[in-house]
Amino acid sequence: MTSSGNKIKVVCRVRPFLKTEKTDESVGVEANNVLRVTNPRDTTKDVKFNFDSCYGPVVGQDVIYNNDVRPLVETIFTGLSATVFCYGVTGAGKTHTIQGSETEPGIIPRAMEHIFKHQERDSFDYDIRVSYYEIYKEAVFDLLKQRDSVAGLPIREDANRKIFVAGLSEKKVTSYEQFDTLYQKACGNRRTASTKLNNHSSRSHAILTVQVQWKDDIGSGKTWCGRLHLIDLAGSEDNRRTENGKDRMAESSAINRSLFVLGQVVEALNIGASRIPYRDSKMTRILQDSLGGDSLGMMIVNVSPGEAFLQDTHNTLNFATKSREVVNKPVAHEVVEQRWSVSDRMQHHRGMGRPMRS
Ligand code: ADP
Ligand code: MG
Repeated sequence: MTSSGNKIKVVCRVRPFLKTEKTDESVGVEANNVLRVTNPRDTTKDVKFNFDSCYGPVVGQDVIYNNDVRPLVETIFTGLSATVFCYGVTGAGKTHTIQGSETEPGIIPRAMEHIFKHQERDSFDYDIRVSYYEIYKEAVFDLLKQRDSVAGLPIREDANRKIFVAGLSEKKVTSYEQFDTLYQKACGNRRTASTKLNNHSSRSHAILTVQVQWKDDIGSGKTWCGRLHLIDLAGSEDNRRTENGKDRMAESSAINRSLFVLGQVVEALNIGASRIPYRDSKMTRILQDSLGGDSLGMMIVNVSPGEAFLQDTHNTLNFATKSREVVNKPVAHEVVEQRWSVSDRMQHHRGMGRPMRS
């Protein structure tokens, strides 16, 4: 660990085509950490984006968990904090990645199983507590309780200048089954609230926080606390393009702002900036102690494979990485005896066939 703090890892995941989608592939994974995407402004070119890791559509939930998430979860048992975000437009695979399904469990069930297994093997007496809440239009709502107010919970600072959400429930869980019952009910609360409020779940951030606390009664006698935050971010699409009601505008600007601030925080941490703009949004303010310093963080950037999402995919990738390069598209199935000029290639792409040799 360096004194300037750990960087936030940025990994990209491309989902498979859905049965209902046209399979016009516009992205491809190269070399495990490069995503190659058709340039929307000039389709004869590709743009290559660099990531810490990059996963194609056939990569399963277990691979992502074992490669990238498992090491983060392990660190909470050393008293550190770790955070995983899923970023992307609606439909890109955030919920699938963080939550998953019965048959393909995602990060949350895998991490919880991992934590309880660790607890069983270890000799310390761990106190495991979970909170689950969402941030919608810069207001915090407890998902472990029935929603009874539209105002949201206040954010406060304690005597040690630690930020906390006042009144947020923290439920003690002693087994995976107990966690799962609580979590399924909370997901139900989220769905109900979402249906009542114009399907807002894709427009709110959902944050699951697991706190693990124990007393080192073998060694130092100190009490330690590790925290894990698993976050399904609001869809990053710009709703202002399609919907222009007053409510939707306020909602969009809140989402855009909080995602923008998150991007700024990640960038500031990753370049080692002296000022990190945590205070500029509710989410980064709440997560302040768990982002940067000794904490480990990872942003999973979810994208769709098809051409229909090409512009969204570019917006997502431009947000997530500053490391990119425009390159010529590879020309497939051709034995190229002589280098083609760019205009030859463009003719070829327009369906005009193999250029004449001069
Ligand atoms: P988001 O939460 O970003 O809006 P979802 O996670 O709901 O997106 O994914 C959209 C659809 O794609 C869902 O039907 C989901 O099951 C499917 N999907 C997403 N990622 C994958 C994947 N890696 N493998 C299989 N299906 C996926
Ligand atoms: Mg979702």
